[in-house]
Amino acid sequence: MVSNRVFLSSPHMGGNEEKYVSDAFEKNWIAPLGENVDEFENQIRQYTGANAACAVSSGTGAIHLALDVLNVGRGDVVFCSSLTFVASANPILYMGATPVFIDSEMDSWNMSPNLLEKAMRYYRMKGKLPKAVIVVNLYGQSARMDRIMEICDRYGVPVIEDAAESLGAEYQGQPSGTFGKIGVFSFNGNKIITTSGGGMMISDDELIIKKALKKATQSKEAAEHYQHNEVGYNYRLSNISAGIGRGQMEVLDDRIAKKRAIFEQYVDGFGDVSAVDFMPEIEGSFHTRWLSTMLIDPAKSSVTPSRIIKYLAQENIEARPVWKPLHMQPLFETCPYFRGEQDNAKYLFEHGLCLPSDTKMTEEEINRVITLVRDLLPIHRIIA
Ligand SMILES: *Cc1c(COP(=O)(O)O)cnc(C)c1O
Repeated sequence: MVSNRVFLSSPHMGGNEEKYVSDAFEKNWIAPLGENVDEFENQIRQYTGANAACAVSSGTGAIHLALDVLNVGRGDVVFCSSLTFVASANPILYMGATPVFIDSEMDSWNMSPNLLEKAMRYYRMKGKLPKAVIVVNLYGQSARMDRIMEICDRYGVPVIEDAAESLGAEYQGQPSGTFGKIGVFSFNGNKIITTSGGGMMISDDELIIKKALKKATQSKEAAEHYQHNEVGYNYRLSNISAGIGRGQMEVLDDRIAKKRAIFEQYVDGFGDVSAVDFMPEIEGSFHTRWLSTMLIDPAKSSVTPSRIIKYLAQENIEARPVWKPLHMQPLFETCPYFRGEQDNAKYLFEHGLCLPSDTKMTEEEINRVITLVRDLLPIHRIIA
């Protein structure tokens, strides 16, 4: 019997999305502005507590705008987490700047504050502090933002928080995305909520969002004719997509609860398998578990993540490796990389696995995944 495909993380509509999209049709606001865009921005502002928000066509676009409004230019240095999706660092290249990658710490999988400090010291000695630091909050968990902000503030370097994967997460009670000067969210199809494609930039500094909004609309000056004094982009979110976003914001908390329940079921299912460890939830952090991710200890099992992914694929189940670190990508071959004694990002990539975390999965489907993965790991159980 061919069972339904189980996805890693796929779009999951709440029900009201079509209503807001129809509204846009009825009012003929089929443009990158309108009530849905305004309301979607308001919802994100209310949810995060940020002063200002600007809806854009992608998370990548939001990072690009963020670098632009911070005046990053040719020859500048920008620090960035290495363990992330390429979209975190591609915009650094758009600006003609040089990425410098920072390794993860093992307990959060996010940027190591110690290595960030080391990199800051090194670049200050060279007389070339970075123009910005892009901190990524992976798989639904905030980086250690208290320490990261303390370091960046001390060196006077603005932080862009790539919270594309962490909408709804918290650190020390504060919403993820609100620690840095600028926070960025993504609403791509695989994210915790989606607009089919889209992104958002938030900041407490309204002037920054005003600047970003102008740049996102071709830097059009206030004039009757088309007047342009600086370079701009066409990056605004459409009113149709924003309608989907409005409906999705209504179910964000339900999605987070389900993601966390999926994770708990995996923890129960693998509790007695000593070779398996899960991505830790660091103290003071509220992890959304956007993706349930685990590590397979190579000292305890010779089964590789790749073997598990292929095995699940035969059963029509989608699993993925952890992000391949950017310092290991040919695209960034010549970029400096600050790592600890062990290359943690590389280790997490080589031994990490993203389990299916789709919010439409049933408990039976999750159990099926657990049973299949356990098939490959049986002799490593602890016998109590
Ligand atoms: C998805 C993602 C992005 C990019 O967002 P898009 O909306 O797909 O452009 C950026 N950074 C991270 C970490 C992501 O996961």
